[in-house]
Amino acid sequence: MDTATASVSTPRAVERLVQGQATSDGAGVRLVRLLTQDLQRRLDPFLMLDAFGTDNPGDYIGGFPDHPHRGFETVTYMLQGRMRHRDSAGNEGLLVPGSVQWMTAGRGVIHSEMPEQEDGAMEGFQLWLNLPGRRKMTAPWYRDVAPDEIPEWHGPGVTARVIAGHAQGVAGAVQREDTEPLYLDLHLQPGARFAQPLPAAHNAFAYVYRGSLAAAGTEVRRGRMAIFANPRADFTVGAAAAPQPDGVALQAGPEGARAILVAGRPLREPIAQYGPFVMNTQQELVQAVEDFHAGRLA
Ligand code: FE
Repeated sequence: MDTATASVSTPRAVERLVQGQATSDGAGVRLVRLLTQDLQRRLDPFLMLDAFGTDNPGDYIGGFPDHPHRGFETVTYMLQGRMRHRDSAGNEGLLVPGSVQWMTAGRGVIHSEMPEQEDGAMEGFQLWLNLPGRRKMTAPWYRDVAPDEIPEWHGPGVTARVIAGHAQGVAGAVQREDTEPLYLDLHLQPGARFAQPLPAAHNAFAYVYRGSLAAAGTEVRRGRMAIFANPRADFTVGAAAAPQPDGVALQAGPEGARAILVAGRPLREPIAQYGPFVMNTQQELVQAVEDFHAGRLA
C-alpha cells in the first residue's frame, strides 16, 4: 500500500531515452508519436502515446473526424485548448484544459475528436491502454473527468495530479483492475523530488513536457520519454546482491519540470494491431474490419 510517506530506496535506472517520431493523424493533426508500435511489447499494457502541442491552428484544425476503435481504451489528457468528442453510443463531451477523457472502446465505437476553437494553443496527450483478451469485446464505456475531479497530492515543491492509480496515498480519478495503470501529471519546482514505488513487473515511462529532470543519474530533457528499467526477473536475495529497484525517483532540474509518469501491469498476451483495432489475433482483426464495414461498430 502507498502511504503519505511513500519513498523509494533504490530507483530504477533509465534504460532508454526516446525522442519520438513527428507524424500526423486524423485530418492532418501534427503530433509526436512517442510510444510507437515497436515499443508495444516493451511497454505492455500501453499501446501508443501521442503528444500534441502547437500554437498554429493549421496543425490541429482538421481534428479527428469519425473513426472506429475496438479492443482497448483511449485516455486523452488536455493541457491547453478545447476539443469536442462525439461517439456512436450517443456520448458527447468537451475536453477543456486539465480534463481527461477515458474511453473504453471495447467491442467498438465510432467517434470524432474535433477542436472547439479556431485559434490559440492546443496541447495534450493521448495514451492507448490495452484490454485483456477476455474484455476486448466488452460494452463501450466513456467518462469525462473535469479538472477539479482529478485528485492532487501536494508535497514540497510538488503537485501530482493523479489521473489513474495511486500515488502518495491519493487514489486517482480512474482505477483499472486488469492492468493497474498509474497516470500522473507531475509539476515540480526547481530541484524538487518525487518518488513513486512500483511493483517490479510493472512497465514504466515518463515524458517531460517542460523543463528537465534527472532519474537515477540520467538527465531527461523536455521532449524526451524515459523508459525505466524493470528489476531483473532472476534477482535473488543474498548478501552480495545489489538492492532491487523498488520504484522511480525523479528530481527536477534548475528550471523545474512538468512530466507525465505512466506505469502498468503487463498483460503478456499477443498483440495484433491494424490501425485503430487492437486484438490478440489476425483473425480477430479481420472480423473487426468486417464488422466496421457492415456497420456493426456503431
Ligand atoms: Fe480516436
